[in-house]
Amino acid sequence: MAAHATPLEALLMNPAFDGEVMLAEPMSAHTTYRIGGPARWFVRADSLSALTGLLDACANQRMSWAMVGRGSNLLVADSGFDGVVVTLGRDFRAFRVQEDGLSISAGAGVLLSAVVQEAFKRSLAGLEFAVGTPGNLGGALRMNAGSADEYIGSRVVSVTVYTPGVGMRKLQASDVKWGYRATSFALDDVILECELALEGADPFFIRGKMEANLKRRKASQPLDLPSCGSVFRNPPGESAARLIDKAGLKGTKCGGAQVSNKHANFIVNTGGASAADVRQLIDTVKARVFESYGIQLTTEVRFLGFR
Ligand SMILES: Cc1cc2nc3c(=O)[nH]c(=O)nc-3n(C[C@H](O)[C@H](O)[C@H](O)COP(=O)(O)OP(=O)(O)OC[C@H]3O[C@@H](n4cnc5c(N)ncnc54)[C@H](O)[C@@H]3O)c2cc1C
Repeated sequence: MAAHATPLEALLMNPAFDGEVMLAEPMSAHTTYRIGGPARWFVRADSLSALTGLLDACANQRMSWAMVGRGSNLLVADSGFDGVVVTLGRDFRAFRVQEDGLSISAGAGVLLSAVVQEAFKRSLAGLEFAVGTPGNLGGALRMNAGSADEYIGSRVVSVTVYTPGVGMRKLQASDVKWGYRATSFALDDVILECELALEGADPFFIRGKMEANLKRRKASQPLDLPSCGSVFRNPPGESAARLIDKAGLKGTKCGGAQVSNKHANFIVNTGGASAADVRQLIDTVKARVFESYGIQLTTEVRFLGFR
């Protein structure tokens, strides 16, 4: 190890670090957009001690860090992120059904789809709305992922978070504000695990709802091209997709990025799109919708590495 290594570098270069450390890792490999320049470090923390040691070292050194789940709601700058991108590994990927048989506790690194399937296998209803939503449980909780009328926060009993300088806390659902694709978690709260309350139901009923949701998704979304799902939040009482469509923006292109012809709130990567292309198209859509309807669209997609 270089004699001048900082404590953070020493930690990351230590072969005993419980996780995986990648240097200059292209974020295009970790986002559903398939877009994004390199993270200075991309680190999978496999245990709580690895995670807390890493975050504390970042805080001490004033090194920027960012949590990433499956990158399904993320646009990373072409220049990448000059800091540590952290994702949750092994010890955050477990789940168990509680003794009451009606609630599931799961690590934030578990795929949301795995929780949905586990609930279905156990004839537990309440997560059908989430079928087909990519991403981890941690990302879903942070975003309060959901459909038009259901969201994951409404199923939460408790969430365990770690905050550098504060420590680990178990929050009750009522300690968190669950808004439309928004939550009151602090920027540096790392979601570690949660407990979800579900209801016993007939598996045919659960399967029926899941299949109907999947069918609707396949019929209305451009699932054959990389995207981040809906780019914009729906304004109150309105549909962002409808406004974008009415403004005649479907099919509008900027480099390799295009407003989907299938779903106007999706901007797809038609191949080789840069983050700058997507960003410029987002600005174009916002400007045109504002010109046409006086409505300011706000983004649901999260940005990383932009100045
Ligand atoms: C095809 C497609 C369809 C989609 N459909 C839907 C849908 O129906 N409904 C919906 O709500 N969304 C949808 N999305 C968006 C996306 O899948 C969700 O927002 C998802 O919950 C994000 O999870 P993720 O793990 O990929 O998070 P990421 O994109 O990796 O991160 C999202 C945000 O969460 C933060 N974060 C991630 N993990 C943690 C953690 N452990 N602790 C603290 N913060 C964390 C990140 O810092 C970032 O701010 C869709 C996306 C795609 C590509």
